[in-house]
Amino acid sequence: MFDRTLDCARRMDRDDVLARFRTEFHIPKGPQGKDEIYFCGNSLGLQPRRTAEYVNEFLRDWAAMGVRGHFEGKNPWLPYHEFLTEGLASLAGAEPSEIVAMNSLTVNLHLMMVSFFRPTSSRFKILIEDHAFPSDTYAVDSHLRHHGLDSAKALVRISPRPGEELIRDEDLFNLIEREGSSLALILLPGVQYYTGQVLPMAEIVNRGHTVGAVVGFDLAHAMGNIVLNMHDWNADVAAWCSYKYLNSGAGSVAGCFIHERHVKNTALPRFAGWWGHNKSTRFQMGSEFQPIPTAEGWQLSNPPILSLAAIRASLDVFTKAGSMAVLRAKSEKLAGYLEYLLQAECGGHLDIITPADPTRRGCQLSLSLRSAGKDVHQRLETAGVVCDWREPNVIRIAPVPLYNTFDEVYRFVHLLKGLL
Ligand SMILES: *Cc1c(COP(=O)(O)O)cnc(C)c1O
Repeated sequence: MFDRTLDCARRMDRDDVLARFRTEFHIPKGPQGKDEIYFCGNSLGLQPRRTAEYVNEFLRDWAAMGVRGHFEGKNPWLPYHEFLTEGLASLAGAEPSEIVAMNSLTVNLHLMMVSFFRPTSSRFKILIEDHAFPSDTYAVDSHLRHHGLDSAKALVRISPRPGEELIRDEDLFNLIEREGSSLALILLPGVQYYTGQVLPMAEIVNRGHTVGAVVGFDLAHAMGNIVLNMHDWNADVAAWCSYKYLNSGAGSVAGCFIHERHVKNTALPRFAGWWGHNKSTRFQMGSEFQPIPTAEGWQLSNPPILSLAAIRASLDVFTKAGSMAVLRAKSEKLAGYLEYLLQAECGGHLDIITPADPTRRGCQLSLSLRSAGKDVHQRLETAGVVCDWREPNVIRIAPVPLYNTFDEVYRFVHLLKGLL
């Protein structure tokens, strides 16, 4: 399928059904005014061109209508978050009633734990990964303390075996089985941020439910990256941010999935706010909280429309591109090509720690440099490649199917080869 020639890259770009979507984005320019090779969409996705238009629509409506903007205009603010539901549901593989755009990712993790981490004297442990993103670890640890639990006893961590980078499924499943009836919550990533490993989510839910635990996922690196089926996989909850593969701008409003079987249970304990209250009586300003019987029942405040406008713009690009399956087809090919060329051109200088199995990875390949150091990353930046460096020796490269090209992969690998 691949060979080492530049022609091969150009041919794949010519055949790429998504090629025209690159022009939907602002591509940052390097020092010489040339497009940068932007492989950092796993950290901050690029800005869709239409974002300004959607944000400006809000600003114009606000200027022209003041408070009437809540109800009037083409996209009134009162139901504005609902305009995102279908697009997010499609990316998460969920029913609309299971989805809400709100808050930020870490806040949503907290809100989900308030409702779904209900420790008892015998079932009180949380299982996370040893190398979890720090915010997730802090959030989980603070809930344990909040319940008067000691994380030395109540926090169970799954790690790769010594000398290995990836979590083995069998180790994870064995740990779930071993902890069994003491496990209250399993909170794992869909895609591990450092290695790019996709965890077997459906099977984790199965195994977790078998021992009676609640199963939640952090989809920060999974939404907009891999095909998800949160509803069918039967996950209890999930949360994600929207500024990585969802291209909605730094700090933009995050999302949350709560399975249908939970959302109707309005008796579930939760931290409440007026935006989660029954829409038909919200403005009667009563003192008794009646949660909306969908994921929206976990909303706290009226949301920032500026940010929701950016998400709406981004979701429209996803909708135009078709399904996640279309994006995945290109993504697998881009990652496969990157892997092929790295092995062919830079073979002895680095190891790809991301799984080789395409079903167990997303866009990102994490490259562990054998002897070269951080200066390689700096020189890549100088040469117009944007990617990120993780201590001690890992470069994460994420070619994104909506805006990256095979030609960029080719040029990147040859730049890297020159530096190694
Ligand atoms: C990016 C990321 C975060 C960031 O959290 P915010 O609350 O959005 O700042 C948290 N967890 C994971 C796994 C991430 O990848």
